[in-house]
Amino acid sequence: MIFTQEHEELRRTVRNFVDKEINPHVDEWEKDGRFPIHEIFKKAGDLGLLGISKPEKFGGMGLDYSYSIVAAEEFGTIRCGGIPMSIGVQTDMCTPALARFGSDELREQFLAPAIAGDMVGCIGVSEVGAGSDVAGLKTTARKDGDDYVINGSKMWITNSPSADFICLLANTSDDKPHVNKSLIVVPMKTPGITVSPHLDKLGMRSSETAQVFFDNVRVPQRYRIGHEGAGFMMQMLQFQEERLFGAANIIKGLEYCVDSTIDYCKQRHTFGNPLIDNQAIHFRLAELQTEIECLRALVYQATEQYVKGRDVTKLASMAKLKAGRLGREVSDACLQYWGGMGFMWDNPVSRAYRDVRLVSIGGGADEIMLGIICKLMGILPGKKKG
Ligand SMILES: Cc1cc2nc3c(=O)[nH]c(=O)nc-3n(C[C@H](O)[C@H](O)[C@H](O)COP(=O)(O)OP(=O)(O)OC[C@H]3O[C@@H](n4cnc5c(N)ncnc54)[C@H](O)[C@@H]3O)c2cc1C
Repeated sequence: MIFTQEHEELRRTVRNFVDKEINPHVDEWEKDGRFPIHEIFKKAGDLGLLGISKPEKFGGMGLDYSYSIVAAEEFGTIRCGGIPMSIGVQTDMCTPALARFGSDELREQFLAPAIAGDMVGCIGVSEVGAGSDVAGLKTTARKDGDDYVINGSKMWITNSPSADFICLLANTSDDKPHVNKSLIVVPMKTPGITVSPHLDKLGMRSSETAQVFFDNVRVPQRYRIGHEGAGFMMQMLQFQEERLFGAANIIKGLEYCVDSTIDYCKQRHTFGNPLIDNQAIHFRLAELQTEIECLRALVYQATEQYVKGRDVTKLASMAKLKAGRLGREVSDACLQYWGGMGFMWDNPVSRAYRDVRLVSIGGGADEIMLGIICKLMGILPGKKKG
């Protein structure tokens, strides 16, 4: 990918925003189990950071997706995983389909305020009984006059306790599972919606994740994104951006693990010598940095193809898979060299160790990525090469 001066300016803008508005407060917000999402999103919205590749007509910058990836990479300098994940939900998980397939009315009502940072969004796909198996979800949206009446529940919904709207995937007919679903934008204040207390998570502590219940929730059918029955397909497209965001976003956090471990190993002595002088350690850190560069190259390659309008399902799935696996490898290897200090809760590497664990689970687990890659390689039993 070739970066222009505009890319570099965007990098600097994100970096300054993170250094000034977020990083000084991260430790406090991690302890609180939440961050002031409306305030932070408003500041990010004022800088244009929530609509980088969204249409200018609705307040976006109208730039190509390479700029979004540069921002995703730079948001990785936030010293925790929870806040960048929250931002990613807003920019790359609950709004791509709305921006691409939503009516002008819907985009005025929900996309424009999401880009401005006046509304917080969340994405409702997973259910207690349907995470990996998206096609098996049970929430229904039945037609009643001009409305849909929604019943069911969604599990592990990031941002939901503070969200103004949810981009909801629900069954709108009894047809086959891949053609019976629609994406519907549902305002979270609609009567019949309740949100559980936020869930107590292993990592991503500063982001709020909860279960959302729908009991005869009535919304106009015009809140549907695109055609009825096209929801599954639109969600699969939307996943491409979610997965590219996730892979790009992890890169700088992993580099921070390596860099902070190098610093620690320079000042920590064992048997009269700095730890870093052990070849087993400095070779290992060099190997990890090499792997991080490989991930970056894969993310950039996928992004370049995506900007050209190509289908990047395979490359985005590979990038997501690699990001999850490498995240675990780097954080685990680095934590080891901190010894007992690495086992302390507030250690930066131990936070990364807990946070990155989600990358191999959320947004499609590693095994789901492998299934997609196998299908596209033509080696999944019973499937043709696609
Ligand atoms: C912190 C957090 C935030 C989240 N945020 C959101 C959100 O905002 N919106 C949303 O919709 N969802 C969200 N999720 C849900 C997330 O996407 C799901 O947890 C994920 O898709 C896995 O689904 P599951 O938990 O039901 O696992 P299951 O589907 O029960 O799978 C369990 C495990 O089985 C294995 N597995 C599953 N299927 C196969 C297979 N075919 N072959 C081999 N192995 C397999 C995998 O290792 C998988 O991890 C979030 C989850 C967490 C933990």
